[in-house]
Amino acid sequence: GNASLFAEDVRDVKISFEFFPPKTPKMEENLWSAVQALAPLEPDFVSVTYGAGGSTRERTHRTVRRILDETALKPAAHLTCVGAPCGAVDDVIREYWSAGVRHLVALRGDAPDGADGYAPHPQGYENAAALVSGIRDIGDFEISVAAYPEKHPDSADWDADLDNLKRKIDAGATRAITQFFFETESYFRFLDRVEKGGIDVPIVPGILPVTNFRTLTGFAARCGASVPDWLARLFDGLDERPATRNLVAATVAGEMCRRLHAGGVRAFHFYTLNRAELAFAICHMLGHRAVPTGAGDHAKGESAA
Ligand code: FAD
Repeated sequence: GNASLFAEDVRDVKISFEFFPPKTPKMEENLWSAVQALAPLEPDFVSVTYGAGGSTRERTHRTVRRILDETALKPAAHLTCVGAPCGAVDDVIREYWSAGVRHLVALRGDAPDGADGYAPHPQGYENAAALVSGIRDIGDFEISVAAYPEKHPDSADWDADLDNLKRKIDAGATRAITQFFFETESYFRFLDRVEKGGIDVPIVPGILPVTNFRTLTGFAARCGASVPDWLARLFDGLDERPATRNLVAATVAGEMCRRLHAGGVRAFHFYTLNRAELAFAICHMLGHRAVPTGAGDHAKGESAA
């Protein structure tokens, strides 16, 4: 049937938020106010990315620790295998376990800029599937992995791409989070392929509310995400109008989530870029409302303030 434009005010979706580890005190402040603004939405988990080549190892760890120590949120730490021997990666995994982290996002990572394709470290994990097995051997973590609705650029064809995803699930991952995409049809087609491939874990769409089209284009090409012409046209002429770009961003991402929801999607992962407002607005429109402050023991995110 033709449902109303907006979801009803029932919490029938699961949400999660992705943050990146801050570089400066000012960025740390921004991150922290975003975390506090989003906490009343009671996300399933919040994840913290790992910089290229492990460059943010300490900062990722510190951010995850702070989330554990100061909020009631469940952190998921991203981890890659690029440029490190298995032993060093295992140390990081053990550190997370003893800190009380129980959810990892296991990734391969990318070759450094200018390198000629990806090559694993000679004593390292070969790919994300191998990393998932390594994590499994160390602790009973919940493990999420990456999936690509438009195929990973390194996959020769769809069969190779889906086999790779299947290996990650067979190794013990229980959720895939997708690269961002802008056509809901690509996502739904991917779900069909995944299902035909016998993969039965949740494939959670990764939602990137785009506010800055200029930075997106170069970045997207490397990620295996295409940028439709209509998106370019929507941002045309708005370079000097950041407030307008925010309104456009919320509208585009909100409409995309509404279509996904209408197609049966009940879990959403938001690439927040450490900003709360867009993700908050979209969750609100999906019917996923913040718990009012002072609502007894639901107001967990407030307790550390
Ligand atoms: P894999 O699943 O290992 O696969 C990568 C590609 O290699 C696939 O095309 C696969 O088919 C192919 N492949 C795998 N094994 C073989 C083999 N033996 N022979 C031939 N081909 C093979 N990057 C970061 O650096 N830090 C992050 O925090 C981070 N977070 C991310 C979060 C999400 C949700 C997503 C979608 C991506 C993230 N990335 C991150 C980017 C990710 O590291 C890159 O997309 C990377 O290129 C692939 O990682 P993967 O885990 O998907 O790799």
